[in-house]
Amino acid sequence: MTVITRFAPSPTGHLHIGHACAAIFAFDAARAAGGRFLLRIENIDASRCRPEFEVAILANLAWLGLLWEEPVRRQSDHFADYRAALARLESLGVLYPCFCTRADIQREIAASPAAPHGPDGPLYPGTCRHLGTAERAQRMAAGEAYALRLDVEKALAGLPAPLTFHDASHGTIAAEPRQFGDVVLARKETPASYHLSVTVDDHLQGVSLVTRGEDLLPATHVHRLLQALLGYAVPDYRHHRLLLDKHGQRFAKRNRSVTLRSLRESGVTAAEIRRRVGL
Ligand code: GLU
Repeated sequence: MTVITRFAPSPTGHLHIGHACAAIFAFDAARAAGGRFLLRIENIDASRCRPEFEVAILANLAWLGLLWEEPVRRQSDHFADYRAALARLESLGVLYPCFCTRADIQREIAASPAAPHGPDGPLYPGTCRHLGTAERAQRMAAGEAYALRLDVEKALAGLPAPLTFHDASHGTIAAEPRQFGDVVLARKETPASYHLSVTVDDHLQGVSLVTRGEDLLPATHVHRLLQALLGYAVPDYRHHRLLLDKHGQRFAKRNRSVTLRSLRESGVTAAEIRRRVGL
């Protein structure tokens, strides 16, 4: 089977040296296996993504010497695919509309001293999970804004066997999607969440080896559940260590001194970047 990897940046800022590490990792993994390398622009969040960052991403990856297949998949061109996946989940009865505002959720969490926490903070307390069909229909008809959440317990209850996935560095891992609670899969202003769009795209693009930083390993537990519900094949994973600065901190987009653009402008060569990221 041909190995297909991808690098999937969000154009919310300039790429930094940590992104270079992830991009080169994916590119080299495909090349070592005689496989294919894809680039995907994850721009579903229109409020944070900017076209000039997208242009800069392509320029900087080309400068690094990476070659990717055309056309590049841009998530904002594919909302119909995410809608179709949501419709399939809806037909399984594992989605529910959630009318809570952020403030509602915070109030609810503050009122329950033992509120469970997940990798992204306190879990959604499940307020809207128990609304009746009539109330849901009436609030939707009244034009109240809502998000679509995954009913994780219901989704897991319908599966024939516990889920696992395989990671080249961590071995076989038992999937524990409960750790994120009932995740949001779509909102009015962003009709597909990261979890949904990344799972759908990796499937549609035939990605067979998902490489990404270890910070995204928890998210894979949710993606594995979505794959099972949507009937997708399960890719292999390689979550790699994150590149850290000299203070042991992760590189951030707001730290301008480590953007590929500024390194390049200051005369650093692509070969030096490769050496710095230690690949
Ligand atoms: N777009 C995500 C990011 O920039 C990465 C997606 C992924 O590799 O799964 O953090």
